[in-house]
Amino acid sequence: MNSILQCVLLSPGLTEWMITKFQASQKHRSTPLSNSFFDLLSTVRRANGAGSVTPSDLKTQVSRTVSQFSGFGQQDAQEFLRFLLDRMHDELNRVTVKPKYQEMKFEKHPVGEQSEKWAQYYRQRDDSIMTDLFEGQLMSRVGCLSCNHQTYAFDNFLDLSIDFPRKATRFTGTISLEDCMQKFIDVEKIIDAGYKCEGCKKPVNVEKDITLYRFPKLLVIHLKRFYHSAMRREKLNTTVTFPAKGLDLRKYAPHSSKCHAELIVLICRSSVSVKCGLRPLRDKSPLG
Ligand SMILES: [Zn+2]
Repeated sequence: MNSILQCVLLSPGLTEWMITKFQASQKHRSTPLSNSFFDLLSTVRRANGAGSVTPSDLKTQVSRTVSQFSGFGQQDAQEFLRFLLDRMHDELNRVTVKPKYQEMKFEKHPVGEQSEKWAQYYRQRDDSIMTDLFEGQLMSRVGCLSCNHQTYAFDNFLDLSIDFPRKATRFTGTISLEDCMQKFIDVEKIIDAGYKCEGCKKPVNVEKDITLYRFPKLLVIHLKRFYHSAMRREKLNTTVTFPAKGLDLRKYAPHSSKCHAELIVLICRSSVSVKCGLRPLRDKSPLG
């Protein structure tokens, strides 16, 4: 829990918004978790790096909602992060009455317009400081291998859950973040699966991939260290390397002209360790 709180408390944009706009945005809404987060942030700022701060009030708020986080054990960092982002988003959502569901029919539009229409559709439902900062957009593409007809679908995300490449499951050496990202966007061929193409109207073989289309301001990457072997659930101890600066993410958004990233946060399922890349944040954090 502490490692995630350190990351979120240090997130550029969120801190400033909480200090300058949170209280005015509350109106008469019930925002218990966000209140606790605001109090913790205020305490941390007052401490100004001296001593340590215990997030006991926030932990109480979390425990009341999710029993999984009620003890003092080592919880799953990614699950806690998703809970924190989702719950604070719900509390701070600027949309109070969501429009009715409507079927999306954008296939005839250029891909950039399809992306924009999906983004607008989501924004009519979910629009908060959390989506302002953490929400990105994925594009799923299916291409016919007979007539080259392409279909696209878009989905939003608050964090990217990424598998390790298969080669990483066979040894406990080192792998790069770029290798993991490349596996995420790899093209997959689907043969003899009876897929019916909307272009040539025939059962065809297709290729499909998922790539980033819109980057969030703050990109959260969750590396899935657990996998299922023939006998049991195993954990990979592979070290993941990544450049401290200058990680070029544009190649993971090959169909987009609107990609940028301001900060990368790495989340691991294990405890805080140098391998997770969280050490520099811990050193700087006043949480202790
Ligand atoms: Zn086709």
